Amino acid sequence: MDIISLKDTSNKLFYVGGVVRDELLGIKSLDVDIVYEGNAIEDCSEFGELVRVNPDFGTIRVKLNPHPNFSHFQDENGEILPSPGGRGDTVVDIASTRTETYPLKGHLPVVDKIGVSLKEDVMRRDFTVNSLYKSVSTGEIFDFTGGLEDLKNKIIRVLHDESFVDDPTRIIRALKFSHRFGFILDARTRALRDEYLQNINYDMCFKRVKKELIETLGLNSDELFKEFIESGIYKLVTPNRVQVPSTTIKNLISQYAPESENIWLIYAGILRDLTRIELTRKEQKILDDFAALENSGLNDDFAIYKAFDGKEIESIILFAVLCDEKLARHYLDDLRGIKIATTGKHLEEAGFEPSPKYKEIFDFLLNKKLKNPKMTLENEMALVKEFF
Ligand code: ATP
Repeated sequence: MDIISLKDTSNKLFYVGGVVRDELLGIKSLDVDIVYEGNAIEDCSEFGELVRVNPDFGTIRVKLNPHPNFSHFQDENGEILPSPGGRGDTVVDIASTRTETYPLKGHLPVVDKIGVSLKEDVMRRDFTVNSLYKSVSTGEIFDFTGGLEDLKNKIIRVLHDESFVDDPTRIIRALKFSHRFGFILDARTRALRDEYLQNINYDMCFKRVKKELIETLGLNSDELFKEFIESGIYKLVTPNRVQVPSTTIKNLISQYAPESENIWLIYAGILRDLTRIELTRKEQKILDDFAALENSGLNDDFAIYKAFDGKEIESIILFAVLCDEKLARHYLDDLRGIKIATTGKHLEEAGFEPSPKYKEIFDFLLNKKLKNPKMTLENEMALVKEFF
């Protein structure tokens, strides 16, 4: 593993999932998953201080001690890396090998047995390419599902026919991985996906759906979004019909630079119905601002300016995609930067008593300035005198 070095003389620690896949693909991994073949809670506490234990899932977080079995996370130069949790400690998460069942389809699984063999552990995973184990001590790779072959052939394949019924978020994950790596879904996997999308059980854990939407739509790809719509994956979020927009969303996003954490919401907002997804306040404001824009009468520059001013940039991009791109660009490119120079202080100094009339004056000036952006403070104050 070239991004970390971890010593294990127990021969029971394995890197698993994305980190093994990414190393074989020769790309940098986003995180490191480690599994212990056995019960990690019982056997791994000696490696260091347990900072978190989850007995339901058999997972532990260990702050590492110097120990013959375990070295710290290190990069190639021996530098200690920040922990996966980003707290600066040398911390690793270790999962126990386990089997899981889905008594409530679409919801969190229930752990059946902890401390099973790797071969049994593998069956709870999503795709063959995410089911490779690499021994921490020897570097040997264990492939129980044909993951190496699929990695070579760039194929996303589920491990069994019930996979999407158990956990429909895997449908979104398949889209994410296929676009991230340029892989395709194997024919059977695609058929199982389409079958599920014909008959969705909306009693599912939408918190997990949201997490996958953030990661997947956050890739900011028009091609990915087209497939999200055309293959019907969007139906996991809403049964309403949705069409692929004609605008290139990525261009708008790169030109007007919204917060990267909200990019997913610009795409998801196109579905118009996110009632099943719990949104943060900020996310809800983005949708509310869009709804307000959509319902405003925009017949001249003043009305456009007043409607768009103070609205979230994500909402304006959504307006561009769903309503009127030309108008949104006119506001962003031509009008947004126009501001009147006159302030309340200027008015007071010129002898006008503070009153609700101030607002009328500011709007009057703005209206003039939108027609003549070159107006100076002196020009504005001359108009103020006329106004009174
Ligand atoms: P990424 O690079 O996006 O982090 P990853 O493969 O590491 O990709 P994670 O979401 O971190 O993905 O999950 C780690 C591993 O856990 C996966 O590789 C897979 O083996 C398993 N896994 C994660 N989510 C699921 C799921 N919904 N169903 C089954 N297995 C899953």
